[in-house]
Amino acid sequence: MDFTNEVKSAIEPLVQDISALCQIDSVEGEPKPGMPFGEGPAKALAAALAMGERMGFRTENFDNYVGHIEFGDGDEMIGILGHLDVVPAGDGWDRDPWGGQIEGGRIWGRGTLDDKGPLLTCLYAMKILKDLNVPLKRRIRLILGTNEETNWGCMDYYLHQVKPEMPVAAFSPDSEFPVTFAELGMLQYTLTRKIDEVINIEGGSAFNSVPSSAKVILPEALEAEVRQAVSNSKDPSIYQINVDGGKLQLEVTGIGVHAKDVHEGRNAISYMMDVLGKVSVTGQLKEVVDFYNAHFGTTVFGEKMGISASDEISDHLTLNIGKIQAVDGKLTIYCDSRIPVSIKVDDIENAVKQKIQGTGYTYELASKENPLYVEKDSELVSTLMEAYRKVTGDMESQPMVSGGATYSRTISNCVAFGCLLPDQIDTMHQANESLEIDKLEIWLKVMVEAIYQLAK
Ligand SMILES: [Zn+2]
Repeated sequence: MDFTNEVKSAIEPLVQDISALCQIDSVEGEPKPGMPFGEGPAKALAAALAMGERMGFRTENFDNYVGHIEFGDGDEMIGILGHLDVVPAGDGWDRDPWGGQIEGGRIWGRGTLDDKGPLLTCLYAMKILKDLNVPLKRRIRLILGTNEETNWGCMDYYLHQVKPEMPVAAFSPDSEFPVTFAELGMLQYTLTRKIDEVINIEGGSAFNSVPSSAKVILPEALEAEVRQAVSNSKDPSIYQINVDGGKLQLEVTGIGVHAKDVHEGRNAISYMMDVLGKVSVTGQLKEVVDFYNAHFGTTVFGEKMGISASDEISDHLTLNIGKIQAVDGKLTIYCDSRIPVSIKVDDIENAVKQKIQGTGYTYELASKENPLYVEKDSELVSTLMEAYRKVTGDMESQPMVSGGATYSRTISNCVAFGCLLPDQIDTMHQANESLEIDKLEIWLKVMVEAIYQLAK
Protein backbone atom coordinates (compact mmCIF):
# COMPACT_ATOMS: atom_id res chain seq x y z
CA MET A 1 0.00 0.00 0.00
CA ASP A 2 1.15 3.49 -0.76
CA PHE A 3 -0.14 6.23 1.51
CA THR A 4 1.96 9.15 0.21
CA ASN A 5 -0.85 11.31 -1.17
CA GLU A 6 -3.14 10.75 1.78
CA VAL A 7 -0.36 11.67 4.22
CA LYS A 8 0.39 14.86 2.26
CA SER A 9 -3.19 16.08 2.39
CA ALA A 10 -3.62 15.12 6.06
CA ILE A 11 -0.73 17.28 7.29
CA GLU A 12 -2.51 20.64 7.26
CA PRO A 13 -5.56 19.55 9.29
CA LEU A 14 -3.31 17.49 11.59
CA VAL A 15 -1.18 20.57 12.31
CA GLN A 16 -4.33 22.57 13.10
CA ASP A 17 -5.65 19.89 15.45
CA ILE A 18 -2.32 19.56 17.30
CA SER A 19 -2.22 23.33 17.68
CA ALA A 20 -5.80 23.38 19.00
CA LEU A 21 -5.22 20.55 21.47
CA CYS A 22 -1.99 22.14 22.73
CA GLN A 23 -3.89 25.34 23.52
CA ILE A 24 -5.65 23.47 26.32
CA ASP A 25 -3.61 23.65 29.52
CA SER A 26 -4.00 20.04 30.67
CA VAL A 27 -1.60 20.00 33.61
CA GLU A 28 -3.03 17.94 36.47
CA GLY A 29 -5.20 20.14 38.71
CA GLU A 30 -7.39 19.98 41.79
CA PRO A 31 -9.93 17.15 41.48
CA LYS A 32 -13.49 18.37 40.90
CA PRO A 33 -16.72 16.38 40.80
CA GLY A 34 -16.53 14.20 37.69
CA MET A 35 -13.01 15.47 36.93
CA PRO A 36 -10.58 13.28 38.86
CA PHE A 37 -7.49 15.10 37.58
CA GLY A 38 -8.97 18.61 37.40
CA GLU A 39 -10.46 20.65 34.57
CA GLY A 40 -7.56 20.73 32.12
CA PRO A 41 -7.15 16.99 31.52
CA ALA A 42 -10.96 16.58 31.23
CA LYS A 43 -11.13 19.40 28.68
CA ALA A 44 -8.32 17.90 26.61
CA LEU A 45 -10.02 14.51 26.69
CA ALA A 46 -13.33 15.99 25.52
CA ALA A 47 -11.55 17.82 22.70
CA ALA A 48 -9.66 14.73 21.51
CA LEU A 49 -12.77 12.55 21.64
CA ALA A 50 -14.65 15.19 19.64
CA MET A 51 -11.94 15.02 16.96
CA GLY A 52 -12.38 11.24 16.81
CA GLU A 53 -16.14 11.59 16.56
CA ARG A 54 -15.84 14.16 13.80
CA MET A 55 -13.85 11.56 11.82
CA GLY A 56 -16.64 9.05 12.27
CA PHE A 57 -15.03 6.81 14.90
CA ARG A 58 -16.71 5.21 17.92
CA THR A 59 -15.66 7.02 21.09
CA GLU A 60 -16.12 6.45 24.79
CA ASN A 61 -15.29 8.53 27.87
CA PHE A 62 -14.76 6.61 31.11
CA ASP A 63 -15.63 9.18 33.78
CA ASN A 64 -12.92 11.57 32.61
CA TYR A 65 -10.19 9.18 33.71
CA VAL A 66 -9.54 7.82 30.26
CA GLY A 67 -11.24 7.57 26.88
CA HIS A 68 -10.91 5.60 23.72
CA ILE A 69 -11.48 6.02 20.02
CA GLU A 70 -12.05 2.88 18.01
CA PHE A 71 -12.51 1.85 14.44
CA GLY A 72 -12.90 -1.29 12.36
CA ASP A 73 -14.37 -4.69 13.09
CA GLY A 74 -12.88 -8.05 13.79
CA ASP A 75 -12.55 -10.06 16.96
CA GLU A 76 -9.03 -8.93 17.74
CA MET A 77 -7.90 -5.44 18.54
CA ILE A 78 -4.66 -3.43 18.30
CA GLY A 79 -4.16 -0.91 21.10
CA ILE A 80 -2.41 2.45 20.97
CA LEU A 81 -1.76 4.07 24.36
CA GLY A 82 -1.14 7.79 24.58
CA HIS A 83 -1.81 10.58 27.04
CA LEU A 84 -3.35 14.05 27.01
CA ASP A 85 -2.04 15.49 30.28
CA VAL A 86 1.18 17.48 30.20
CA VAL A 87 3.86 18.66 32.59
CA PRO A 88 3.70 22.33 33.72
CA ALA A 89 5.07 24.90 31.28
CA GLY A 90 7.95 26.00 33.51
CA ASP A 91 10.11 29.03 32.78
CA GLY A 92 12.25 30.13 29.88
CA TRP A 93 9.77 30.14 27.00
CA ASP A 94 10.17 32.52 24.06
CA ARG A 95 6.53 31.88 23.09
CA ASP A 96 3.25 31.25 24.81
CA PRO A 97 3.44 27.61 25.95
CA TRP A 98 -0.36 27.43 25.53
CA GLY A 99 -0.50 29.43 22.28
CA GLY A 100 -0.27 26.55 19.80
CA GLN A 101 1.64 28.93 17.54
CA ILE A 102 2.50 27.67 14.05
CA GLU A 103 5.62 29.46 12.92
CA GLY A 104 8.96 28.77 11.26
CA GLY A 105 7.96 25.28 10.16
CA ARG A 106 7.04 24.23 13.69
CA ILE A 107 4.13 23.96 16.05
CA TRP A 108 5.08 25.48 19.41
CA GLY A 109 3.66 24.56 22.76
CA ARG A 110 3.61 22.23 25.74
CA GLY A 111 2.45 18.82 24.56
CA THR A 112 3.46 19.08 20.89
CA LEU A 113 5.98 16.24 21.41
CA ASP A 114 4.72 14.76 24.68
CA ASP A 115 2.21 13.44 23.93
CA LYS A 116 -0.55 15.27 22.09
CA GLY A 117 1.34 15.45 18.78
CA PRO A 118 2.15 11.71 18.63
CA LEU A 119 -1.35 10.78 19.79
CA LEU A 120 -3.10 12.85 17.10
CA THR A 121 -0.66 11.51 14.53
CA CYS A 122 -1.97 8.02 15.34
CA LEU A 123 -5.55 9.28 15.12
CA TYR A 124 -4.87 10.69 11.65
CA ALA A 125 -3.20 7.42 10.63
CA MET A 126 -6.44 5.66 11.62
CA LYS A 127 -8.40 8.21 9.58
CA ILE A 128 -6.30 7.59 6.49
CA LEU A 129 -6.91 3.83 6.74
CA LYS A 130 -10.62 4.46 7.26
CA ASP A 131 -10.96 6.91 4.35
CA LEU A 132 -9.16 4.51 2.02
CA ASN A 133 -11.41 1.65 3.06
CA VAL A 134 -8.35 -0.55 3.50
CA PRO A 135 -9.50 -4.07 4.47
CA LEU A 136 -8.31 -4.79 8.02
CA LYS A 137 -8.75 -7.91 10.13
CA ARG A 138 -8.31 -6.24 13.50
CA ARG A 139 -9.94 -3.26 15.17
CA ILE A 140 -7.75 -0.34 16.20
CA ARG A 141 -8.31 1.35 19.53
CA LEU A 142 -6.63 4.59 20.52
CA ILE A 143 -6.58 4.81 24.31
CA LEU A 144 -6.34 8.32 25.76
CA GLY A 145 -4.91 8.59 29.25
CA THR A 146 -5.12 11.82 31.26
CA ASN A 147 -2.76 11.24 34.20
CA GLU A 148 0.46 9.85 32.76
CA GLU A 149 2.83 12.58 33.91
CA THR A 150 2.07 12.02 37.58
CA ASN A 151 0.45 8.91 38.98
CA TRP A 152 -0.93 6.84 36.09
CA GLY A 153 -4.32 7.03 37.86
CA CYS A 154 -5.99 6.91 34.45
CA MET A 155 -4.55 3.54 33.42
CA ASP A 156 -5.16 2.23 36.90
CA TYR A 157 -8.86 3.09 36.57
CA TYR A 158 -9.03 1.74 33.02
CA LEU A 159 -7.47 -1.61 33.87
CA HIS A 160 -9.03 -2.20 37.28
CA GLN A 161 -12.41 -0.39 37.19
CA VAL A 162 -13.35 -0.37 33.49
CA LYS A 163 -11.70 -3.78 32.94
CA PRO A 164 -11.63 -3.33 29.17
CA GLU A 165 -10.99 -5.87 26.43
CA MET A 166 -7.22 -6.35 26.08
CA PRO A 167 -5.48 -5.73 22.76
CA VAL A 168 -3.61 -8.64 21.15
CA ALA A 169 -0.73 -6.25 20.53
CA ALA A 170 -0.18 -2.63 21.38
CA PHE A 171 2.25 0.25 21.37
CA SER A 172 2.67 3.55 23.12
CA PRO A 173 3.82 6.51 20.98
CA ASP A 174 5.29 8.27 24.01
CA SER A 175 9.00 7.79 23.57
CA GLU A 176 11.26 7.67 20.55
CA PHE A 177 11.75 5.78 17.29
CA PRO A 178 12.42 3.07 16.54
CA VAL A 179 11.15 0.62 19.18
CA THR A 180 11.76 0.29 22.93
CA PHE A 181 11.26 -3.41 23.62
CA ALA A 182 12.50 -3.43 27.21
CA GLU A 183 12.00 -0.99 30.07
CA LEU A 184 13.70 -1.70 33.36
CA GLY A 185 11.79 -2.48 36.52
CA MET A 186 11.64 0.30 39.08
CA LEU A 187 11.59 0.43 42.86
CA GLN A 188 11.37 3.66 44.86
CA TYR A 189 11.33 3.63 48.64
CA THR A 190 12.36 5.58 51.69
CA LEU A 191 14.45 4.45 54.67
CA THR A 192 13.62 6.39 57.82
CA ARG A 193 14.93 6.49 61.37
CA LYS A 194 14.04 8.55 64.41
CA ILE A 195 16.38 11.29 65.57
CA ASP A 196 16.25 13.37 68.72
CA GLU A 197 19.42 15.36 68.21
CA VAL A 198 19.70 18.32 65.86
CA ILE A 199 21.12 17.09 62.55
CA ASN A 200 21.57 19.78 59.91
CA ILE A 201 21.84 17.80 56.73
CA GLU A 202 20.10 18.06 53.38
CA GLY A 203 20.56 17.17 49.75
CA GLY A 204 18.69 16.33 46.56
CA SER A 205 15.04 16.86 45.69
CA ALA A 206 13.44 13.73 44.20
CA PHE A 207 13.77 9.96 43.98
CA ASN A 208 14.57 10.02 40.29
CA SER A 209 17.37 12.58 40.12
CA VAL A 210 20.97 12.30 41.14
CA PRO A 211 21.42 15.16 43.67
CA SER A 212 23.43 18.07 42.35
CA SER A 213 23.95 19.58 45.77
CA ALA A 214 24.08 18.62 49.44
CA LYS A 215 25.13 20.32 52.63
CA VAL A 216 25.73 19.68 56.29
CA ILE A 217 26.46 21.92 59.25
CA LEU A 218 29.15 20.79 61.71
CA PRO A 219 30.89 22.24 64.78
CA GLU A 220 33.69 24.63 63.87
CA ALA A 221 36.09 22.49 65.90
CA LEU A 222 36.10 19.94 63.07
CA GLU A 223 37.50 22.41 60.55
CA ALA A 224 41.04 21.01 60.36
CA GLU A 225 39.76 17.45 59.97
CA VAL A 226 37.25 18.44 57.31
CA ARG A 227 39.88 20.35 55.33
CA GLN A 228 42.20 17.37 55.56
CA ALA A 229 39.52 14.92 54.40
CA VAL A 230 38.55 17.21 51.51
CA SER A 231 42.11 17.64 50.33
CA ASN A 232 42.63 13.87 50.46
CA SER A 233 39.47 13.28 48.42
CA LYS A 234 39.49 12.40 44.74
CA ASP A 235 38.15 15.80 43.69
CA PRO A 236 38.58 18.55 46.32
CA SER A 237 37.09 21.15 43.96
CA ILE A 238 33.53 19.84 44.50
CA TYR A 239 33.60 20.80 48.20
CA GLN A 240 33.06 24.27 49.66
CA ILE A 241 33.77 25.00 53.30
CA ASN A 242 32.35 28.05 55.07
CA VAL A 243 33.09 28.83 58.68
CA ASP A 244 30.90 31.37 60.43
CA GLY A 245 29.74 31.97 63.99
CA GLY A 246 31.16 28.78 65.43
CA LYS A 247 29.64 26.63 62.69
CA LEU A 248 31.16 25.00 59.67
CA GLN A 249 29.09 24.44 56.57
CA LEU A 250 30.27 21.81 54.11
CA GLU A 251 28.59 22.05 50.72
CA VAL A 252 29.05 19.58 47.88
CA THR A 253 28.38 20.09 44.20
CA GLY A 254 27.30 17.00 42.29
CA ILE A 255 26.28 16.27 38.74
CA GLY A 256 22.52 15.96 38.50
CA VAL A 257 21.23 13.47 35.94
CA HIS A 258 18.19 11.22 35.73
CA ALA A 259 18.31 8.26 38.12
CA LYS A 260 18.41 5.80 35.23
CA ASP A 261 21.74 7.33 34.15
CA VAL A 262 23.14 7.32 37.67
CA HIS A 263 26.63 6.22 36.57
CA GLU A 264 26.94 9.40 34.47
CA GLY A 265 26.19 11.64 37.44
CA ARG A 266 27.89 12.41 40.72
CA ASN A 267 25.82 12.08 43.84
CA ALA A 268 26.42 15.13 46.06
CA ILE A 269 25.03 13.31 49.13
CA SER A 270 27.30 10.30 48.68
CA TYR A 271 30.41 12.44 48.27
CA MET A 272 29.43 14.44 51.34
CA MET A 273 29.05 11.21 53.34
CA ASP A 274 32.40 10.05 52.03
CA VAL A 275 34.12 13.05 53.65
CA LEU A 276 32.00 12.81 56.82
CA GLY A 277 33.13 9.21 57.19
CA LYS A 278 36.70 10.46 57.59
CA VAL A 279 35.88 13.09 60.21
CA SER A 280 35.19 12.51 63.89
CA VAL A 281 31.51 13.41 63.88
CA THR A 282 29.59 12.14 66.89
CA GLY A 283 26.21 11.00 68.15
CA GLN A 284 23.34 10.30 65.80
CA LEU A 285 25.04 12.08 62.91
CA LYS A 286 27.83 9.53 63.15
CA GLU A 287 25.28 6.71 63.15
CA VAL A 288 23.68 8.14 60.01
CA VAL A 289 27.04 8.53 58.27
CA ASP A 290 28.06 4.98 59.19
CA PHE A 291 24.74 3.56 57.99
CA TYR A 292 24.99 5.49 54.74
CA ASN A 293 28.55 4.47 53.99
CA ALA A 294 27.87 0.84 54.87
CA HIS A 295 24.77 0.58 52.64
CA PHE A 296 25.45 3.01 49.79
CA GLY A 297 28.83 4.73 49.87
CA THR A 298 29.71 6.23 46.51
CA THR A 299 28.71 3.10 44.60
CA VAL A 300 25.83 3.34 42.13
CA PHE A 301 25.03 -0.28 41.29
CA GLY A 302 23.68 -1.36 44.68
CA GLU A 303 26.89 -3.19 45.60
CA LYS A 304 26.84 -2.27 49.27
CA MET A 305 23.11 -2.91 49.62
CA GLY A 306 23.82 -6.41 48.34
CA ILE A 307 21.47 -6.08 45.38
CA SER A 308 23.87 -5.68 42.47
CA ALA A 309 22.69 -7.60 39.45
CA SER A 310 22.84 -7.42 35.68
CA ASP A 311 21.72 -9.20 32.55
CA GLU A 312 22.63 -9.07 28.89
CA ILE A 313 19.60 -7.08 27.83
CA SER A 314 19.54 -4.41 30.47
CA ASP A 315 23.04 -4.17 31.93
CA HIS A 316 23.44 -3.20 35.63
CA LEU A 317 20.88 -2.64 38.32
CA THR A 318 21.25 0.97 39.51
CA LEU A 319 20.67 2.46 42.93
CA ASN A 320 20.32 6.21 43.29
CA ILE A 321 19.97 8.12 46.55
CA GLY A 322 17.78 10.98 45.37
CA LYS A 323 17.33 12.91 48.59
CA ILE A 324 18.15 13.05 52.27
CA GLN A 325 16.35 15.16 54.86
CA ALA A 326 16.19 15.49 58.63
CA VAL A 327 12.92 17.06 59.78
CA ASP A 328 10.33 16.53 62.51
CA GLY A 329 12.48 14.10 64.43
CA LYS A 330 13.03 11.85 61.43
CA LEU A 331 15.86 11.30 59.04
CA THR A 332 14.79 9.99 55.65
CA ILE A 333 16.79 8.64 52.72
CA TYR A 334 15.07 8.41 49.32
CA CYS A 335 16.16 5.51 47.10
CA ASP A 336 15.47 4.68 43.45
CA SER A 337 16.52 1.46 41.73
CA ARG A 338 16.19 0.56 38.04
CA ILE A 339 16.15 -3.18 37.77
CA PRO A 340 17.19 -5.50 34.91
CA VAL A 341 14.25 -7.09 33.11
CA SER A 342 15.22 -10.65 34.03
CA ILE A 343 15.08 -9.91 37.77
CA LYS A 344 11.95 -9.79 39.89
CA VAL A 345 11.34 -6.39 41.46
CA ASP A 346 9.87 -8.18 44.49
CA ASP A 347 13.14 -10.03 45.05
CA ILE A 348 15.07 -6.76 45.14
CA GLU A 349 12.52 -5.28 47.51
CA ASN A 350 12.82 -8.26 49.86
CA ALA A 351 16.61 -8.11 49.76
CA VAL A 352 16.58 -4.45 50.79
CA LYS A 353 14.12 -5.12 53.62
CA GLN A 354 16.31 -7.95 54.91
CA LYS A 355 19.49 -5.96 54.65
CA ILE A 356 18.18 -3.11 56.79
CA GLN A 357 16.61 -5.33 59.41
CA GLY A 358 17.89 -4.44 62.88
CA THR A 359 19.46 -1.16 61.73
CA GLY A 360 16.72 1.02 63.24
CA TYR A 361 15.55 2.16 59.81
CA THR A 362 12.06 1.45 58.49
CA TYR A 363 11.32 0.69 54.87
CA GLU A 364 8.43 2.38 53.11
CA LEU A 365 7.51 1.65 49.52
CA ALA A 366 6.82 4.68 47.32
CA SER A 367 6.49 3.12 43.88
CA LYS A 368 7.02 -0.25 42.27
CA GLU A 369 6.87 -0.96 38.53
CA ASN A 370 7.45 -4.29 36.92
CA PRO A 371 9.63 -4.24 33.83
CA LEU A 372 8.47 -4.29 30.25
CA TYR A 373 9.96 -6.92 28.04
CA VAL A 374 8.83 -8.10 24.63
CA GLU A 375 11.21 -10.40 22.73
CA LYS A 376 13.30 -8.52 20.20
CA ASP A 377 12.35 -10.98 17.44
CA SER A 378 8.66 -11.03 18.35
CA GLU A 379 6.10 -10.32 15.65
CA LEU A 380 5.24 -7.00 17.31
CA VAL A 381 8.79 -5.66 17.45
CA SER A 382 9.72 -6.86 13.97
CA THR A 383 6.54 -5.46 12.40
CA LEU A 384 7.13 -2.04 13.95
CA MET A 385 10.83 -2.07 13.04
CA GLU A 386 9.95 -2.94 9.45
CA ALA A 387 7.42 -0.13 9.18
CA TYR A 388 9.95 2.34 10.59
CA ARG A 389 12.72 1.16 8.27
CA LYS A 390 10.52 1.13 5.18
CA VAL A 391 9.50 4.75 5.67
CA THR A 392 12.71 6.29 6.99
CA GLY A 393 15.34 4.13 5.29
CA ASP A 394 17.18 4.14 8.64
CA MET A 395 18.67 0.66 8.89
CA GLU A 396 21.14 1.56 11.64
CA SER A 397 18.91 2.31 14.62
CA GLN A 398 18.16 -0.80 16.62
CA PRO A 399 15.43 -1.77 19.08
CA MET A 400 16.23 -0.12 22.43
CA VAL A 401 16.24 -0.74 26.15
CA SER A 402 15.20 2.11 28.43
CA GLY A 403 15.44 2.93 32.11
CA GLY A 404 12.46 5.25 31.75
CA ALA A 405 8.85 4.19 32.03
CA THR A 406 5.96 4.47 29.60
CA TYR A 407 2.42 3.18 29.71
CA SER A 408 3.59 0.24 27.61
CA ARG A 409 4.44 -1.71 30.73
CA THR A 410 0.86 -1.58 32.02
CA ILE A 411 -0.37 -4.20 29.55
CA SER A 412 1.23 -7.25 28.02
CA ASN A 413 2.65 -7.42 24.50
CA CYS A 414 3.04 -3.67 24.34
CA VAL A 415 6.16 -1.67 23.44
CA ALA A 416 7.05 2.00 23.13
CA PHE A 417 7.14 3.13 19.48
CA GLY A 418 7.89 6.73 18.47
CA CYS A 419 7.67 9.43 17.99
CA LEU A 420 10.97 11.28 18.47
CA LEU A 421 13.22 10.56 15.47
CA PRO A 422 16.95 9.92 16.05
CA ASP A 423 17.84 13.29 14.49
CA GLN A 424 15.01 15.24 16.08
CA ILE A 425 15.59 17.82 18.84
CA ASP A 426 14.14 16.60 22.14
CA THR A 427 12.34 19.44 23.91
CA MET A 428 9.96 17.24 25.94
CA HIS A 429 9.39 18.62 29.46
CA GLN A 430 11.55 21.63 28.51
CA ALA A 431 11.02 25.27 27.58
CA ASN A 432 10.09 25.91 23.94
CA GLU A 433 8.71 22.42 23.32
CA SER A 434 8.02 22.29 19.61
CA LEU A 435 7.44 19.93 16.71
CA GLU A 436 8.93 20.35 13.22
CA ILE A 437 6.22 19.91 10.61
CA ASP A 438 8.50 18.05 8.20
CA LYS A 439 9.19 15.51 10.99
CA LEU A 440 5.47 15.25 11.60
CA GLU A 441 5.07 14.08 8.03
CA ILE A 442 7.55 11.26 8.66
CA TRP A 443 5.75 10.36 11.90
CA LEU A 444 2.45 10.08 10.07
CA LYS A 445 3.93 7.95 7.27
CA VAL A 446 5.47 5.56 9.80
CA MET A 447 2.29 5.35 11.87
CA VAL A 448 0.00 4.62 8.91
CA GLU A 449 2.35 1.90 7.75
CA ALA A 450 2.76 0.42 11.23
CA ILE A 451 -0.92 0.41 12.12
CA TYR A 452 -1.79 -1.03 8.72
CA GLN A 453 0.78 -3.84 9.13
CA LEU A 454 -0.44 -4.68 12.65
CA ALA A 455 -4.13 -4.64 11.78
CA LYS A 456 -4.28 -6.09 8.26
ZN1 LIG B 1 4.65 11.33 27.77
